[in-house]
Amino acid sequence: MATRVIPPRILKNIKYNTATATATATATTKPLNSAHPSILSSTAVALPSLYEKADHQKPPSSSPVTTAAKSSLLNLDDAEKLFSSVSTSKLLRSSAVLHATAMGPMVDFGMWIMKSRLMQTGVMKDFVMAAIKKTFFENFCAGEDAADAGRSIRWLNEVGLRGMLVYGVEDAHDNEGCDRNLKGFLHTVDVSRSLPLNSVSFVIVKITAICPMQLLERVSDLLRWQQKDPSFNLPWKQDCLPIFAESSPLYHTQKRPEPLTPEEEKDLELANQRLLELCQKCVKANIPLLVDAEHTTVQPAIDYFTYSSAIMHNKDDNPIVYGTIQTYLKDAKERLLLTAKGADKMGVPMGYKLVRGAYMSTESKLAESLGYASPIHNTIQATHKCFNDCSSFLLEKIANGPGNVVLATHNVESGKLAAAKAHDLGMGKVNHKMEFAQLYGMSEALSFGLSNAGFQVSKYMPFGPVEMVMPYLLRRAEENRGLLAASGFDRQLMRKELGRRLKAAVF
Ligand SMILES: Cc1cc2nc3c(=O)[nH]c(=O)nc-3n(C[C@H](O)[C@H](O)[C@H](O)COP(=O)(O)OP(=O)(O)OC[C@H]3O[C@@H](n4cnc5c(N)ncnc54)[C@H](O)[C@@H]3O)c2cc1C
Repeated sequence: MATRVIPPRILKNIKYNTATATATATATTKPLNSAHPSILSSTAVALPSLYEKADHQKPPSSSPVTTAAKSSLLNLDDAEKLFSSVSTSKLLRSSAVLHATAMGPMVDFGMWIMKSRLMQTGVMKDFVMAAIKKTFFENFCAGEDAADAGRSIRWLNEVGLRGMLVYGVEDAHDNEGCDRNLKGFLHTVDVSRSLPLNSVSFVIVKITAICPMQLLERVSDLLRWQQKDPSFNLPWKQDCLPIFAESSPLYHTQKRPEPLTPEEEKDLELANQRLLELCQKCVKANIPLLVDAEHTTVQPAIDYFTYSSAIMHNKDDNPIVYGTIQTYLKDAKERLLLTAKGADKMGVPMGYKLVRGAYMSTESKLAESLGYASPIHNTIQATHKCFNDCSSFLLEKIANGPGNVVLATHNVESGKLAAAKAHDLGMGKVNHKMEFAQLYGMSEALSFGLSNAGFQVSKYMPFGPVEMVMPYLLRRAEENRGLLAASGFDRQLMRKELGRRLKAAVF
């Protein structure tokens, strides 16, 4: 989930069969909105204060009645209760930052400054960086180093949430950079182990930071060509789950790629070793490793690394390596079904993080520049449906068998539907197989609401020096531009709560 530009190498004459891209998945799943209606309403029921020790810290209850009662408490209307553990200063800053990022011209101005020559002058740069640190950085990031991140996680833990620790590095372009980044990821596992038990739900890894980008593109090209021509031999390829479905776009690779050179094979082996070292450390620490998804240019290689590692490390209904499915892609559901089937066949318990996806404009621009249809669903409704269908499929699957799921969304409707579905299936805090997740600094109302209802909820928390996480911050600003629905909902509730506190202080 980093900000980057599509390399000119792939901006060549490529053809794409739009007919295949619109093919739909055949499997049928029970729709999420078939859930019990009670949970979809916002019935106000007395909740324990968030200042009290969070319920998930207590031993899980085995009583289904308790779970049902808790689940029916998904209440996103009571701003006072939702933000009871958030200080007024934090609420003010959050509200101001979310408002600023929702204003298109403000985001454009900020981006212009960041990319302008003004940033090359020492005083101006220091001033801008200090301003960013006090506002956007503190709102969306866990801190500048592991100690800061630890403090943020402890606070979250006290209010009943968990943290996904993200060492906020960018793509790497050579082995030295990859080795440096690996150290950062390994250190993140150490930091997680030093924090209160279960306060860190996942350590996140970006394959683009431990395998050079150019190699990821080469491997993706080769995998795509093998999908077009199954007789195409890839001697380096390890056991893997299906990476493509029939509807997957292959337009990035038009002509038969050259095999990897001995040098490239050596670099691929180094990247495998880095991921292996990280996986082994996570197995030892019993902390799952979640692999982020990027744009389609390199995603086949990322899935290849993810699935081959999962086959090695996911055992006994304990997934250590999780992959990410981007449901804004037209082929997402068909791919998920194929991969899940493949994992079942091999007896591999899979963990999936479900997201809508963060590279919408990059994907559409690339496809358009090549003369092909966008790989993203034609309408936002189709994306919502895809997310909810995949969520429904995975919840049903893990309720009755191996595997875990992280539902990473700020969408209130998707949150409610999934909570209701989980409730119907008898899942929730009793069943540690599912987790909701939101980005740190976003959708606090949904996070607290789901947590109050008894679900496990994590915040995605990047940490690192301000300059290092700047691409992440720019993406946050860009994504929130123009009144993004989720931040609009949060901003409205924050305003309401700030108004209430002001009144309470004055009168
Ligand atoms: C914990 C976490 C981890 C994440 N990790 C990743 C990751 O590894 N890789 C990744 O790519 N993304 C990732 N994301 C997703 C991304 O950062 C955005 O948060 C996400 O795309 C917004 O979707 P939402 O589910 O929050 O829903 P909403 O708040 O409802 O957002 C909907 C947004 O989806 C977009 N959209 C999608 N499809 C369409 C369409 N067809 N037409 C128009 N608009 C459309 C629009 O921008 C719209 O604003 C992650 C998100 C979270 C919360």
